[in-house]
Amino acid sequence: MNTIISPDITGEVPSFGDTRLPARFWVKARTIESGCWQWTSNLRRGYGHYHLRIGGTDAKVRAHRHAYEPLVGVIPDGLHVDHLCRNRGCVNPAHLQAVTQAENNHRQMTTHCGRGHLFDEANTYRDSRSRQCRTCRRERNRASRKRVALRRSTPTSLAEMQRANGTPIGGA
Ligand SMILES: [Zn+2]
Ligand SMILES: [Zn+2]
Repeated sequence: MNTIISPDITGEVPSFGDTRLPARFWVKARTIESGCWQWTSNLRRGYGHYHLRIGGTDAKVRAHRHAYEPLVGVIPDGLHVDHLCRNRGCVNPAHLQAVTQAENNHRQMTTHCGRGHLFDEANTYRDSRSRQCRTCRRERNRASRKRVALRRSTPTSLAEMQRANGTPIGGA
């Protein structure tokens, strides 16, 4: 896993804490065993986010895209910065590659479900038609159990409401 080198890096492979990014960037990341530089704060849908002030206004950028520009180079217009390591929270430029949106979608589909869960051995099952994500199934089941529980706890008739309140409604 440590040997994933993006073709995008042509020069020396940057090391963690590279001074081309400020210290306040680096305190939000840490190195992990996979070789990823894992973003540890402000993760959304797995992607790290980083706050900046641009021209006096606050801006939020994706941390891996922010790392890419000073450490690798300008991201060509319209290109998506793909994680070769499939870890969306990773900001290691050696794991990043700028690709077209179409290429990225294709890669995502083959490795992740539509909601971004990894299709690995443990998380994948097959139904008659296609590959399915266990995490999504679990979340669907949990959501439907919650709906049933809610329905059960919501009084549906006057009699039930009276029973629930312990007092008759509308006087004795
Ligand atoms: Zn990585
Ligand atoms: Zn899923």
